Amino acid sequence: MDGLASSQPRKYRGRIAPSPTGYLHVGHARTFCTAWQRAREAGGALVLRVEDLDSERSRTVYAEAAVDDLRWLGIDWQEGPDKGGPYAPYAQSERGALYRAAWRTLIERGFLFPCRCSRRDLAGAASAPHEGDADGEPGGEALYPGTCRPPLPLHGAGLGTDDSAGGVNWRFRVPNGETIEFEDANLGPQRFVAGVDFGDFLVWRRDGTASYQLACVVDDAAMGITEVVRGADLLKSTARQILLNRALGHANPAWFHCALVLDREGHRLAKRHDALSVRTLRERGLTPDEVFSGPWPSEP
Ligand code: GLU
Repeated sequence: MDGLASSQPRKYRGRIAPSPTGYLHVGHARTFCTAWQRAREAGGALVLRVEDLDSERSRTVYAEAAVDDLRWLGIDWQEGPDKGGPYAPYAQSERGALYRAAWRTLIERGFLFPCRCSRRDLAGAASAPHEGDADGEPGGEALYPGTCRPPLPLHGAGLGTDDSAGGVNWRFRVPNGETIEFEDANLGPQRFVAGVDFGDFLVWRRDGTASYQLACVVDDAAMGITEVVRGADLLKSTARQILLNRALGHANPAWFHCALVLDREGHRLAKRHDALSVRTLRERGLTPDEVFSGPWPSEP
């Protein structure tokens, strides 16, 4: 019977993971609605996870607005900061101990190296940020120029893993030249080359907090997420996260990346697009269906 039980597919668990650094826009509305529909169709659960690791940019008012806008859109979830659940806490700012443990594991296994470059050093040294994967975008990072990259093997255990290792950033040394391939349930086969499409990426910040990449894989594994539904701006982050999952011994979830919503000029939406925030469109009298489908009124 054990064999039978273990051959059962895992019950679907999805998540929506807003960063409370601004109001949700129509792109978020579409992506989160897709995540909600896929969880419903699969008879599974949807988790709301608040990605508030960036303490300088995250605001409680945006986290509250996201919950309110999602409910107004008709999206609901079974677990989250407002509902609790078996994998609480559901706000990343409260999950630091888990990230710290994973960071230490990665150092001990020889995947990370300390990096003393400042943002300014990197801005000066790096070639132009890759299109669609620039610093400042969710998960985006310019190609690392290799300044602090040590040769292999990395002597992880000798580097020290306590807080005395603070004051430096820690980067994942990617296997240059390796092709990372995955099947996207929406966009089809994807392939990215480590060291070409993305470089040694940030895992741990000098201020003692996890990067988006680390927090995301730790949480998706700890929360038993079986499919990640998110915007196509995070496709290269998925390649990085596949490397992190392999290093940590986690199984990969399935991936479903949603096409980005573009503004009239063809730029992808950002939180600065106030005119296309769910909040503004609500105030202007649109219904949830109109928010999902457009056309949206032009900027005032
Ligand atoms: N927090 C990210 C965002 O708001 C989403 C990250 C993810 O879904 O992995 O863009």
